[in-house]
Amino acid sequence: MTIAAIIDVLEKWAPPSLQEDYDNCGLQVGNRGTEAKAALVCVDCNEAVVLEAEREDCNLILCHHPVIFKGLKRLTGANAIERTVELALRKNIAVYAIHTNLDNVIDGVNGELAKRLGLKPLSVLEPKRDRLRKLAVFVPEAHADAVRTALFEAGAGQVGAYDQCSFNLVGSGTFRAGAGTDPFIGKVGEQHVESEVRVEVRYAIEREGAILAAMKAAHPYEEVAYDLLVLANAHPGIGAGLLGELSEPMPENAFLDHVKAVLGQPHLRHSTLTGKPIKKVAVCGGSGSFLLAKARASGAEAFVTADVKYHQFQEPDNALLLVDAGHWQTERYTMDLIRDRLVRNIPTFAVRLSGLNTDPIHYR
Ligand SMILES: [Zn+2]
Repeated sequence: MTIAAIIDVLEKWAPPSLQEDYDNCGLQVGNRGTEAKAALVCVDCNEAVVLEAEREDCNLILCHHPVIFKGLKRLTGANAIERTVELALRKNIAVYAIHTNLDNVIDGVNGELAKRLGLKPLSVLEPKRDRLRKLAVFVPEAHADAVRTALFEAGAGQVGAYDQCSFNLVGSGTFRAGAGTDPFIGKVGEQHVESEVRVEVRYAIEREGAILAAMKAAHPYEEVAYDLLVLANAHPGIGAGLLGELSEPMPENAFLDHVKAVLGQPHLRHSTLTGKPIKKVAVCGGSGSFLLAKARASGAEAFVTADVKYHQFQEPDNALLLVDAGHWQTERYTMDLIRDRLVRNIPTFAVRLSGLNTDPIHYR
């Protein structure tokens, strides 16, 4: 099993194109072609984690936070990042980061956090735009079924929890085959009228290459006529934060105790109690306070995130309970999430979880 094969599983789930502009996801140390013995999953990759990987006989570290974030100009051991990279290189251990791309998929960091907190997921808090496109392809009637099926199999036609969604309109297509062509129907140099179906399907942008290849393979024409349309619709499954619902409303203090217990967080910070029971909850693992206005507008009674600043605790203004449950704590289950995804897809490959708590914040 090569490192590339492991990465492929992860990137089908959380494509690197979903990472934020400031981020630096992907393979940071190592070579895609190297044989992967076993992987160690962690939130942060530091020197202790590299040594742990060596002890566990893992030559691949899968981390949530990139170790190389802003770029490295030298490797002189002057700081922890340089020393970590140097150690990984010396020990022949590859490092791969899956960060904001995993934050931005509905079954990623926030899906896992919501699940651990017992929330039934409702929607992405801030869905991303510019992720959806539409394909309209003109197919002779007798071949419409085959082309549609090929498009569906390549991932087109998903709308929310529905798949195989398409719109089909029958009309007349005209064309005249030029010199040197080999038309499927009609004759060279003569206009031909054919009853065609305009098949329309919606798809996520990262599937475009596979969808167009499948369309061309299934379509009988030498020259396939099709339109690609950019949609202004937000992608319901891609974006920051998640809104979910508890099965039963909980009093605020009980909810806070529940969050502490689930996340193993001894001390959390929260805004003034609102006096309202908690049912609808917005979550964003890690630094999610930029979503506070969205959480308020969503009608959530609580927003669980981390890295909240002093004045931000004033902003809820009794509209919701803002909870800072710790950055590491709200992302800790990302380790299990990555491990489970790999084990499901490659059952023969060994994946271990780091036993180190890399939270740089200490509580007492
Ligand atoms: Zn984080």
